[in-house]
Amino acid sequence: MRTPFVAGNWKMNKNVAEARNLVNELVPELRAVDNVDIVLCPPFTSLMAVSAVLEGTNIGLGAQNMYWEKSGAYTGEISPLMLAEFCEYVIIGHSERRAYFDETDKSVNQKVKAALNNNLHPILCVGETFEENEAGRTEEIVTRQVQKGLLDLEGLFSENAGSSLTIAYEPVWAIGTGKAATADGASDVISNVIRTTLSKKLGDDFSQSVRVLYGGSVKGNNAAEFFSNEEIDGALVGGASLKASDFVLIVKAASMS
Ligand code: PEP
Repeated sequence: MRTPFVAGNWKMNKNVAEARNLVNELVPELRAVDNVDIVLCPPFTSLMAVSAVLEGTNIGLGAQNMYWEKSGAYTGEISPLMLAEFCEYVIIGHSERRAYFDETDKSVNQKVKAALNNNLHPILCVGETFEENEAGRTEEIVTRQVQKGLLDLEGLFSENAGSSLTIAYEPVWAIGTGKAATADGASDVISNVIRTTLSKKLGDDFSQSVRVLYGGSVKGNNAAEFFSNEEIDGALVGGASLKASDFVLIVKAASMS
């Protein structure tokens, strides 16, 4: 049994006061949820403030990106050691970073490795673009992203791989568009592409213990359908994580799945 997992990716939204307000709304609403791993990923500038509000709650904290070196002359970058002061999780390889900030499978792999080496749980994002999907290349693209993102990581996972790593299947065409994939479509890629690739690479037990989330226009009114599919272990939520009432609905749907 894999514990359901819901993470909110706030992207480049909310200043510190707004971040505190949102978390102050979420904490009491989600306090009673004890069967879902809940994680919030605010911008770097709000991590410290949000971590103070989350102290002692059932909600974890993650960042949206990081660099792979521990310190040094890398102007503008944030290291895994800096994140580990506040966070347990870090999103790696989000499609917006791949598209706008030139992230490659190689840099994604370096970041996943650095996260695992520094006690951070990476949420590795994979997914095909609209054009790739139309061209029937979903399997090829997602397989490559999983294989290359997880290159040379043997020995870095804890015994329970599921507590070390999460994968988010996020078809790029579904992100922020309001056009979510179908639960069956997402489940097909998760089962036949992602878990199959994990299994070939790291073994069946590993593949079965890692949680694989769906991301792309998950809202309060479609979350339950995704979570009722046994291949989908939760969601990475963008837009709907910015409003407490929407995010609460999604977490509660996961809790009832
Ligand atoms: C995301 O950014 O990871 C995402 C899934 O966004 P949205 O929920 O807004 O589609």
